[in-house]
Order: sequence, then structure tokens, then C-alpha cells
Amino acid sequence: MSPGVNMSAEALSNFVAAIFRDAGCSPEEASRISDNLVEANLTGHDSHGVVRVQRYVHMLDEGIVHADKTPETVMDGGSMLVLDGQFGFGQTIGPIAVDAGIDRCREHGLSAVALRHSGHLGRIGAFAERAAGAGMVSMHIVNVANSRLVAPFGSAARRMGTNPYAFGVPRPDHRPVILDFATSIVAEGKTAVAAQGGPPVPDDALVGPDGVTGDPAALYGEIVPGERPRSLDGPGALRAMGNHKGSGLSVMCELLAGALTGSGTAGPDVVPFCNGMLSIYIDPERIDIDETFAADVTSYADWYLAAEPLDDSEPVLLPGDREHQRRSERMRDGLDLPGDLWISICSAADFTGTPLPETGDQR
Ligand code: NAD
Repeated sequence: MSPGVNMSAEALSNFVAAIFRDAGCSPEEASRISDNLVEANLTGHDSHGVVRVQRYVHMLDEGIVHADKTPETVMDGGSMLVLDGQFGFGQTIGPIAVDAGIDRCREHGLSAVALRHSGHLGRIGAFAERAAGAGMVSMHIVNVANSRLVAPFGSAARRMGTNPYAFGVPRPDHRPVILDFATSIVAEGKTAVAAQGGPPVPDDALVGPDGVTGDPAALYGEIVPGERPRSLDGPGALRAMGNHKGSGLSVMCELLAGALTGSGTAGPDVVPFCNGMLSIYIDPERIDIDETFAADVTSYADWYLAAEPLDDSEPVLLPGDREHQRRSERMRDGLDLPGDLWISICSAADFTGTPLPETGDQR
């Protein structure tokens, strides 16, 4: 097993930005990508962090994603927009689409943005945080066109992507409530992290020819250290969370984020890999005519958090609290990158001709 490294968020972000500059992105886009990936690591979502570097670099090289694109407006209906991300990096396309939704919501009180053909949008909660920062309630429904990773309830065949939802509710004088989850038991990236030496996934997260398993090989087949695992190579699938209910939520992502946006689904037609996202924004100031929303959110949140925990070492948390805690810890302690993950980032740097940084703490 190769040694891992510990790096500060800043040092890691600088290195990753250099890789994407050398890969052909503008300095601004390279920084957006690196900041977004490192922020995902900081918030504890290693599945959507720098584990993606090697894959993104190869996607750029293979023309699956394009550098420095901006969304094209397909339809402008005032409170409703259809945007085409032109297969640009999600770290550029996503924030532009969200800002458009916020602007339209400010104008109309309610807005919907159907985003099609975006490159991988990463941690969807980042968009709910962005909208909450602007004072908006938001919900984001996402699918992954041409990504067949998850089996429907009652099957081991691949029919859906990992299809996340994110919701954000702003709170006055406090961080927002952000719920952000994949509809698979684990996000595919967490399985990739596990396959690259990171923490294991639950032992019911996948299904293979021999039934339910926690072995990433069900998805990836043989895993070669330093090579990105290929999710097409395995004989099985990820499992949807919540049995028939999670399977149903995932179907809705295919229909709303894939079919309704025009982005494409995980169905039988061969369409280009991309994220589709249907986002809905509500301005609480416009709907809250009794002006009770902020006080009600605060008093409900306090009451919820006062629930006695079953285990004193596991306090009750609101959605978004875990990410906040992780961020503080990882800013303080630096980011631990397992050996295989570090090798995969160095392989990407080798591919783009980017010099490796000094790494202090090898473990
Ligand atoms: P997860 O299982 O870690 O669940 C995260 C959610 O649960 C968060 O809202 C978190 O605050 C909340 N949570 C965690 N522990 C809690 C506790 N003890 N009490 C209360 N709430 C708690 O996340 P996941 O399903 O593995 O998803 C990981 C990331 O993957 C998400 O950011 C998601 O957007 C992203 N994702 C992206 C894509 C894409 O195509 N772009 C696809 C799938 C997933």
C-alpha cells in the first residue's frame, strides 16, 4: 500500500488548480474546479473531492467535457429558464445557472431553471448553499445522463444514476439547513474512494451476481492501484437507498432532471455523459406574508436539536451540520489523502506535465 499524504486545503487547491491550468482550462476556471473539489473534501464528501481530478483530466482530454464554456439560453420564460451547459465544467456552469435562478426568483418570487448538458456538477449541496446565501429557499433535482450504476428495487440490473437531491433553507444569523444526498446508499465516488484505499462502504451498498455486498469490485471489477477504477467493468450495481422509496426518488430524477430538462436519461438511448439539474427557487420574503418564517425556522431547529440522543457521543444534527463540523476539523488538521488517491492525482499531474508539490507529512 503506498503512503498517503496530509496537505492543507490551500496547498492541495494550488496543486489541483495547476493541473487544470496545464490541462487547458483558464486560470479562473482551474481555480473554480480546484476550490470546488477541495471544498467537497473539507465538508467530508471525499467522493466529490480530489478523487475526481484524474477522471476530470481524462474527460477533458477525451472531449467529454470542455474548458471555459458558459451556458446558452435555450428558453427564457421570465421566471422559467432552460439553459444548456454545452458540456462545460459543472464548476463553471452550475454557479452561473444558480445565479440566474436567484436573480429570476428575486424578480418573480419563484423561479425554475432547467439545466441540461452540464459537465459533472460535483457536490450539489454547494448550489443550495449558494442560493441560501442569497436568502432563497431552493431544491435541486439531478440526474446523470448515460450513467447506469444503480439497480431498481428488486433487481441487480443497472437502470439509474446515483441521482442526488439537495434542498436549502436559509436561517437568519445562522448557517442554512442544507440537505444533500445521493439516492444510492452511497455515492459512486464514495465507492471509488473505498476502492482507492479510503474508508469502506456499508456492506449492503452494492449488489453483485452473488447478492448484496460491500465490495467495490461489484462495480469496478479488478482495481489496479494508480489507475482510475472504471465503473463499467464490474458485474453488479449500486443499491438505491430506502428500498422502493429511494428507487422511486431516483426514477423521478431521471424523469425531471433528465427527461424534462432535455438533458437525457440513463435509459437505453446512447446520449453523452452529463448532469441535468432541475432547480426551483422560492423567495421566502415574498411568500411569508405573516413574516413568521424566520422565527418558525429558528424555533423548530432549536426544538429538533434538543431531541435527546440515543447515544451521547452521537448528538442529533440538522442537515448540513455534519459538513460544517468536518470543515472546521479539516481546516485545522489538513486533508488526509490515502496513498492510492495521491497516486491517482500524481498520475493526472504526470499526464498534464504539472510539477509535484512538496508534501510534508507522508504517512
Ligand atoms: P451522505 O450520505 O453523506 O448524506 C449527506 C446528507 O446527510 C447531508 O445533508 C448531511 O448533512 C446529512 N447528514 C449526514 N449525517 C447526518 C446526521 N448524523 N444527522 C443528520 N443529518 C446528517 O451523502 P451522499 O449521499 O453520499 O452524497 C454525497 C455527495 O455526492 C452529495 O454532495 C451529492 O450532491 C453528491 N452527488 C453528486 C452527484 C452528481 O452527479 N453530481 C451524484 C451523486 C451524488
